[in-house]
Amino acid sequence: MEFIYDDQNIFAKILRGEIPNRTVYENDFALAFEDIAPQAPVHVLVIPKGAYMSLDHFARDASAEEQAGFFQAVAEVCRISGLVDGFRGVSNTRVHGVQDVPHYHMHILGGRPLGRMLAD
Ligand code: AMP
Repeated sequence: MEFIYDDQNIFAKILRGEIPNRTVYENDFALAFEDIAPQAPVHVLVIPKGAYMSLDHFARDASAEEQAGFFQAVAEVCRISGLVDGFRGVSNTRVHGVQDVPHYHMHILGGRPLGRMLAD
């Protein structure tokens, strides 16, 4: 599969500082910020700083260093957000996954019981 990254997507603009964000955590390889339309008391998006469209793109092409940095950010978000009772990490992908922003991101949702994973 060929991945063609669109650098005009909104998360690319956030990474370039063209659009503000409410940062929760940042390291050399990832940025975590509050979702603008939260679906739960905690709703944070973790994105890699590299130009990856989706989970499968990131998993295939990101370096070990980039992947480790990304997941270190996920762990820090969970710690900072106090998600000791659990959470859900979601990466919507392309059409069937209903992905709106074509820059890889993991939603970290928590702060209340979230119910079953799929509504239908
Ligand atoms: P997805 O459907 O998985 O691509 O989700 C995209 C998410 O990005 C949605 O939950 C939006 O609320 C969120 N979002 C869109 N624009 C912004 C923004 N400027 N800052 C923070 N979150 C955003």
